[in-house]
Amino acid sequence: MERLQNFIDGAYCDPVKGQYIDNYEPASGKVYSQIPNSTEEDVELAVAAAEKAFPIWSSMSTTERSAIMVKLSEGIQARMDEFVQAESRDNGKPLSLAAHVDIPRAVSNFHFFATAIVHYASESHNMEGVGVNYTLRKPIGIVGCISPWNLPLYLFSWKIAPALAAGNCVVAKPSEITPYTSYLLGKVAKEAGMPDGVLNILHGEGKFAGDAIVKHPKIKAISFTGGTATGEYIARTAAPMFKKLSLELGGKNPNIIFADCDFKEMLSTTLRSSFANQGQICLCGSRIFVERSIYDKFKEEFVKRVDGTVVAHPNNPEAKLGAVVSKPHMEKVLSYVKLAKEEGGTVLSGGERVIVEGYEDGYYLRPTVIEGLSYDCRTNQEEIFGPVVTITPFDTEEEALMMANSTKYGLSATLWTSNLKRAHRIANELDAGIVWINSWLVRDLRTPFGGMKASGVGREGGWEALRFFTEPKNVFVKY
Ligand code: NAD
Repeated sequence: MERLQNFIDGAYCDPVKGQYIDNYEPASGKVYSQIPNSTEEDVELAVAAAEKAFPIWSSMSTTERSAIMVKLSEGIQARMDEFVQAESRDNGKPLSLAAHVDIPRAVSNFHFFATAIVHYASESHNMEGVGVNYTLRKPIGIVGCISPWNLPLYLFSWKIAPALAAGNCVVAKPSEITPYTSYLLGKVAKEAGMPDGVLNILHGEGKFAGDAIVKHPKIKAISFTGGTATGEYIARTAAPMFKKLSLELGGKNPNIIFADCDFKEMLSTTLRSSFANQGQICLCGSRIFVERSIYDKFKEEFVKRVDGTVVAHPNNPEAKLGAVVSKPHMEKVLSYVKLAKEEGGTVLSGGERVIVEGYEDGYYLRPTVIEGLSYDCRTNQEEIFGPVVTITPFDTEEEALMMANSTKYGLSATLWTSNLKRAHRIANELDAGIVWINSWLVRDLRTPFGGMKASGVGREGGWEALRFFTEPKNVFVKY
């Protein structure tokens, strides 16, 4: 069976303690590779390599760094098929999704920050007759990047790219549930001419390798995407060490639908915003609020479309949903369907496992629609992170807003209306870091990305990410 390796100091290597964990293929439920279960000893090696590389990488001109990162981006593009196959197999997502979203986006992430850094400028503040201030933006040093399993290379590169572009050296850990594409990345970085030690990629469980990254005194900043409970732990651990923290955490996003929306467009987008990537996107709209006058029409047509949605092996071109990421995750999602019924909900579609012929042990779930729940029950307050949505009618704008803002989360929100004034009014009032009006998941990499409340601290994207990965230093010169 294939054994993956860590990528440290420009070379693939085995974990110091020789411990491995199984890596499952969600589509078949079978183990298909093993990955290092790295420990603090491996993190120590990675930090030593990064420390040695930092003076080289940080003193390169931005154009030199940019050229290497453009090559890295092109290297992924050149191996598109290999990356797409690997991502789909590792995560269970339809091959078409990996081919159209995940891997092209990883290519764009590297290309975007490789070019953004060339245009990045710091501020200067003139004091008339007194002097001038200018603010240097220095790389921080060694930074830690920790990412989740839902959009593996997409989110891994979303952190690594700005960190590297800003001149930092990186110790990174992808999710142990989806390690494969970041394993492949080491080879591409090497081919792109990335100096040894600049990018170090470790595999293994959060409680070992992840924890050691968070606790290492020489790692000065942590960029983390994952669950809110893990984020809380990281914040508690890193805060006394005065580390810079960027935390992108969970969500329970509302999708508010008014009667005056473009119904056809809303319906097909709502199908995607509910179930894309098996509902495992932090931005999926899992609580659908529908104005009462169109509630029955929406319910009938939405459920019809959901009933007709194909759940199949990720390689099947007909598949709209593939497998969810793991057995424990599948069980968690099903436990929420059970809870929803206990809380008085009615399952209108789905709610159960799908057995795909030839892949009987795979983790397939029917997309699920539930109605009849109060907005404040657990099903409507806790993150499920699977193909499960609830639908709830509302009578007034105020009621919709109150229900939308009622959770502890504040990541994203979607709003469907053709009333311009209302659209802006509600967008302004929603507790969300990102609001989409008459659309969903349209991403411009220059915009701030992230959430408020328990959805996180800080923002990624564009200048926000470059600011996070640099230390400002103000210099005053007297005239
Ligand atoms: P998770 O928190 O279990 O794991 C995320 C990463 O953290 C993994 O690499 C894991 O190994 C590591 N980790 C776990 N414990 C750790 C510890 N003690 N110290 C250091 N690292 C540790 O999350 P997950 O299950 O992989 O991902 C799903 C969650 O991610 C959902 O809550 C989802 O909403 C969230 N998410 C958020 C965003 C966003 O942008 N806000 C994007 C994607 C996913």
